[in-house]
Amino acid sequence: MEESIVKKRIFVAGHKGMVGSAIVRQLKNRADVEIVTRDRTELDLLDQKAVDTFFANENIDEVYLAAAKVGGIHANNTYPAEFIYQNLIMECNIIHSAHKHDVQHLLFLGSSCIYPKLAEQPMSESALLTGVLESTNEPYAIAKIAGIKLCESYNRQYGRDYRSVMPTNLYGENDNFHPENSHVIPALMRRFHEAKEAGDAEVVVWGTGTPMREFLYVDDMAAASVHVMELDSETYQANTQPMLSHINVGTGVDCTIREMAETMAKVVGFEGEVVFDSTKPDGTPRKLMDVSRLSDLGWRYQVDLEVGLRKTYQWFLANQDNFRK
Ligand code: GDP
Repeated sequence: MEESIVKKRIFVAGHKGMVGSAIVRQLKNRADVEIVTRDRTELDLLDQKAVDTFFANENIDEVYLAAAKVGGIHANNTYPAEFIYQNLIMECNIIHSAHKHDVQHLLFLGSSCIYPKLAEQPMSESALLTGVLESTNEPYAIAKIAGIKLCESYNRQYGRDYRSVMPTNLYGENDNFHPENSHVIPALMRRFHEAKEAGDAEVVVWGTGTPMREFLYVDDMAAASVHVMELDSETYQANTQPMLSHINVGTGVDCTIREMAETMAKVVGFEGEVVFDSTKPDGTPRKLMDVSRLSDLGWRYQVDLEVGLRKTYQWFLANQDNFRK
């Protein structure tokens, strides 16, 4: 007789977003997993009662909390109220109701912008709450710090096993390619592509080109998320502390915005000039993760920047008619 596998019911919150969809791709062929998703017409994550009813009815075993209001430097600067309010409410609703309905395992996805603007580089997990944040995305960062502290508080008080991962700047399929509100990689991919199509002589890149950023391809992020979620409790606890429980996810390698823009021009095939508009903000001067904690836990990235940009550009070309505005 065939043995029937008991499947874990895993709720991926934010499954239509860039990271959530990559986590679904990562888990969907697993025989021991049943993925549960709800789009925003079915479940409004800002609605506390609806989220609570969902957890009461669905018998969830694990949650990947990848739902978030996200955007680049301009969007964060322009809509700070939406960024702090929506992120705080979604985290509170999901984490509290998960606990209330006895979900023991949850992974919260944060961001490297939780670290102080002038944190020592590379930034280790212990840099959290040691200095002033970058002002352009402080409200978003405060919400993400609150998410880590929610997880730690339910762990300390109720013995939950809620973990957090802090990715560096991510890119890949299902990113937001909005010209102003997106992050630098999708913004430049679109701008270079449209300039190539139009035969333009130059493309404008914001800021001075000197800030340094570390970029991680989203399938690597999804793989790291599953890796961290599935570490046994003893290993996870041995490598973290109760009040310093988050884990950085990145490549440990960075480059200047200018270098990234040059790689982008090559990938897209734009042969004109790249010019910098220094009236636009640079944001934080450097953002490089110390990934030694994750590396000690047995994970390393696979996809280099140029390879990741090529994969993303293929996806862009195939899907450009459907972009969310
Ligand atoms: P950040 O890491 O939070 O600052 O996120 P962003 O991806 O928005 O910006 C990264 C860097 O790229 C900043 O120094 C921006 O000034 C620079 N940058 C250059 N061109 C663009 C662009 O078209 N859009 C965005 N979002 N950033 C750009």
